[in-house]
Amino acid sequence: MHNKSVAELSRELESGKISSVELAQQFLDRLKLEDGKYNSFITISEEQAMVEAKAADDMRAAGKATAWTGIPFAHKDIFCTNGVRTTCGSKMLENFVPPYDATVTEKFKQAGAVCLGKTNMDEFAMGSSTESSYFGATTNPWGASSAVNRVPGGSSGGSAAAVAARLVPAATGTDTGGSIRQPAALCGITGLKPTYGRVSRYGMIAFASSLDQGGAMTRTAEDAALMLNVMAGFDPKDSTCIDREVPDYTATLNEPLKGLKIGLPKEYFSEQLSPAMEQQVRSAVREYEKLGATVKEVSLPNAKLAIAAYYVIAPAEASANLSRFDGVRYGYRCEDPKDLMDMYTRTRAEGFGNEVKRRILVGSYALSAGYFDAYYLKAQKVRRLIQQDFITAFKEVDVLMSPVSPSPAFVQGEKNTDPVSMYLEDVFTIAINLAGIPAMSVPAGFVDGLPVGLQIIGDYFSEARLLNAAHQFQQVTDWHQREPQ
Ligand code: GLN
Repeated sequence: MHNKSVAELSRELESGKISSVELAQQFLDRLKLEDGKYNSFITISEEQAMVEAKAADDMRAAGKATAWTGIPFAHKDIFCTNGVRTTCGSKMLENFVPPYDATVTEKFKQAGAVCLGKTNMDEFAMGSSTESSYFGATTNPWGASSAVNRVPGGSSGGSAAAVAARLVPAATGTDTGGSIRQPAALCGITGLKPTYGRVSRYGMIAFASSLDQGGAMTRTAEDAALMLNVMAGFDPKDSTCIDREVPDYTATLNEPLKGLKIGLPKEYFSEQLSPAMEQQVRSAVREYEKLGATVKEVSLPNAKLAIAAYYVIAPAEASANLSRFDGVRYGYRCEDPKDLMDMYTRTRAEGFGNEVKRRILVGSYALSAGYFDAYYLKAQKVRRLIQQDFITAFKEVDVLMSPVSPSPAFVQGEKNTDPVSMYLEDVFTIAINLAGIPAMSVPAGFVDGLPVGLQIIGDYFSEARLLNAAHQFQQVTDWHQREPQ
């Protein structure tokens, strides 16, 4: 069962060959046995999972089953889950049990899905390697048998590793600068970051509010479509969520790609990309040509400014969002504070890890009086130019294709002492968040036995087209079915 996709499991459940309770038990047994190798989960919520599985069987018996009823899956530990600890990978929230569900959590519950637990992540989603988690690093299932362990990417590295290792068929992720796509690429799975505003952020712990977006991490594009069917939609509890009809994303998966216009941004095939990676990405694009697509070079002249703009905007927003963790209402509080100021300073000094502190310091500096215009305002202007580049490109082509990351999964410890080299991991993903457009990562080959992702970028609300393009590619390739040893 563990090798089956969500769509396949759904058919097994529907046929009555297996019950939701049996399926949940099988997955939980395997998860408990295997995850010691990867540390992809922070919390396994066995008791709640079995309650949900029983409810799923009842739902089916009552004739109310959806495609998700009884499907085991996991949430990134950034989505609030009522009654189940939600840590965001931080000591600050080590013992935080939310009294409410995120909208995304709620939607999966209504569909009858069975949440097995909460997956590991970089602390507060700040990182590209899942090494900054207070609960220890996650190991990539690819290359795990060799002498060195590799990172699964981040920040949604727990979800990516769990899906790649067949511990769950699907998991949620969030993407502020690449955190769904880069770990999906490094673990050889399929990842979808929707248009900003397509999926509610209510109850998703905020990092950088103008960039954060929840999305899907699965093995197949078809399953990503099934996930987005559940996740997408207007939510009055999130003021940036957009009120716009949600199509059935599975309905257009089989449209032919003949005539699809693909643009290759020349700035994304630069010296930052290793030749072996470039070869894989270009041969994936050739598959699309065989399917009837046409390819031309396009330019995103401001793309090179994306990392600099992001590392002002994201920390600025983070410094504001994270001010709520002060020891007063919830989360960690230091022992025996002398006075209020002592409580604030020691709580935050002890509760946050180094990368989070670095972001808060940078962000507070960028927003401070006298520097606001020079940094934050300037970065926002650059952001607009980057957005304009994409708008111009989509006048000529339907989708853009590029690499996801400059290299395959790197060795644990290789980059985590050098923030700038870590930040450069997102050189091909960050501009997409600044523009707010959707993008996917699709398995597209291997370099040195490690997975390589193809990034497919679309115009606003073109998720159906991206999923269609990814699904058609997966009908003629089998990269997404390869299983780590
Ligand atoms: N790696 C980027 C960062 O550290 C993006 C993280 C994310 O998308 N959550 O900010």
